[in-house]
Amino acid sequence: MKERYPTKKIYVGDVAVGGDAPISVQSMTYSDTHNVAETVEQINRLHFAGADIVRVAAPKMEDALALKAIKEQVSLPIVADIHYHYKLALEAAKWVDCIRFNPGNINDKHKIKEIVKACQDRNLPIRIGVNAGSLEEEFDNRYGATAEGMVASADYNIKFLEDLGFTDMKVSLKASDVDRTVDAYRMLRPKNNYPFHLGVTEAGTIFHATIKSSIGLGALLLDGIGDTMRISITGELEEEIKVGKAILKDSGRVKEGLNIISCPTCGRIEADLVSAVAEVEKRTAHIKTPMDVSVMGCVVNAIGEAKHADVAIAYGKEAGLVMLKGEVVARLPENELVDRFVQEVEDFAAKQE
Ligand code: SF4
Repeated sequence: MKERYPTKKIYVGDVAVGGDAPISVQSMTYSDTHNVAETVEQINRLHFAGADIVRVAAPKMEDALALKAIKEQVSLPIVADIHYHYKLALEAAKWVDCIRFNPGNINDKHKIKEIVKACQDRNLPIRIGVNAGSLEEEFDNRYGATAEGMVASADYNIKFLEDLGFTDMKVSLKASDVDRTVDAYRMLRPKNNYPFHLGVTEAGTIFHATIKSSIGLGALLLDGIGDTMRISITGELEEEIKVGKAILKDSGRVKEGLNIISCPTCGRIEADLVSAVAEVEKRTAHIKTPMDVSVMGCVVNAIGEAKHADVAIAYGKEAGLVMLKGEVVARLPENELVDRFVQEVEDFAAKQE
C-alpha cells in the first residue's frame, strides 16, 4: 500500500488532523442548531458511535449564538459550517474549534479576511470547503462544475489565506459523483501539503452512499490521500460513522478488530454459514486487536485460507475444525465450533496485549 501523503498536522480542538495522526471520521448534526438540547443530543449520539469530530451548521445568527451553550455541554470538537453570511463565522469563531466556509458563497475578499482574522485570534483552523455545485462565478464560468473548477477555486483560496499568513487549514473538494471527486483530490494533492477532508457529497441513501464512498474514498485512501473524512448519507447519524470506519478498516488504513474472511453463497457449503458468521461478528465486535480470521464452508479453500488466518473454522459434514495459525487445535461437532472459535479469538487477542 502507498504511504500516506505527508501533510501538515493541524488541530481541531484536541483532535490532530494530518501528518501522522489517525484518519478521523466526522459527521454533521441535522437539528436546528439553535435547538440546543436536540443538537447536544445528536452530538452525543455521534460521540457514542465513535465520531472524532462533529460539524454543526449555523445558517442564522441564533444558531451561531447557540454554539456557546452547545460547546459547554459536549466534548467532541465542533466545526461550524458557514455559508453566505461571514458575520455568522465571526460569531461562531468565538465558541467552536474550526470554521468551515464555502468560498463559492462568501466570495468577497474582505469578508474572508475577517473570518481569517477571527480564526487567527483564537488559533482556530479553517476548512476551505469547495463544492462543485457552488463554485465562485469566475471559476464556474471558466471551468463549469468540473474537477478543474474545484481545484482552481481551492488553489486560489489556499493562496489567499497563505498571503494573509494563515496556514492552519484543511481542504475539501466535494462533488456528488465519484469521478469528479476523485479527479479533483488527485489533481490538487501535489500542489500543497494541507490535510484533505474527503467526501463524496449528497451521495444518497445508505446503499448508494456506501458504494459511492467506498469507491471514491477507497481509491483516494489507497493512493495515500486523505486525513479526515465524512460519509454523506441520507439517513441516520450513526450510519455515517459506521460506514466511514469500515472504509478505513477495509482499505487497510486502520488496523483494528477482526478482518473476517468467509465464503459467499456456494453449493458446497456444508453448514449454516450465514448464521455462523453473523454470530462470530456479533460475539467478537468488542475486540480491537487486529487479526485475520476465516470462517469457511467446506474444505476446498478452508485449509488454504486457514494458513494465512490467525484463527479459522473449516466446516465439514456436521462437524469441522478450529485452527490457530494454520494448525488444527480442535475437531468438533458443528454446534460446538463457534463457541470454541470465539474462545480461541479471545485468547489470541489477550496474548497480543
Ligand atoms: S471454501 Fe468451499 S464452500 Fe467456501 S466458497 Fe470455496 S468451495 Fe464454496
